[in-house]
Amino acid sequence: MTSASVSGTERIEAARRLLERVCDPEIPVLTVADLGILRDVRWLEEEQLLEVVITPTYSGCPAMDVIALNIRAVLQQGGFEHVRVITALSPAWTTDWLSSEAREKLRAFGIAPPAEPTADKRALLGERRILQCPHCHSANTEMIAPFASTACKAMFRCLDCLEPFEYFKCH
Ligand SMILES: [Zn+2]
Repeated sequence: MTSASVSGTERIEAARRLLERVCDPEIPVLTVADLGILRDVRWLEEEQLLEVVITPTYSGCPAMDVIALNIRAVLQQGGFEHVRVITALSPAWTTDWLSSEAREKLRAFGIAPPAEPTADKRALLGERRILQCPHCHSANTEMIAPFASTACKAMFRCLDCLEPFEYFKCH
């Protein structure tokens, strides 16, 4: 089969399947699609080029360089010769873009997910205490440090089971 007989749609589907292997280097249980930072995948027929659009979780997030490198590597290994990764800063990423599945994966990984984008979020912004411990689900928690292993996360401690845990911050 010559490459010309593969349609753009098929190429994009193949690329999206390959991109399911690209995870956040800081939270390896989440793929770029789970995080909502994978914005678009386009096939440019004239240039025979695959274009991937990503949005950083916050501007200057150092993990984005690693993610862009991994995207390129996975696609090239999958047979895409020419790949361009574009960063779109607008509209800005918010934690609302995290899928429900992503929130569950975060919890299972021991990181408290940000509140669902509803009334919970408004409550959380004013009431840090309602943050649930991902280990014992107690709401009796306190913030220890505004930054954890990365600037995307804050450090909390559960006052019931006494386990520390990281919280994926709202932006
Ligand atoms: Zn706990």
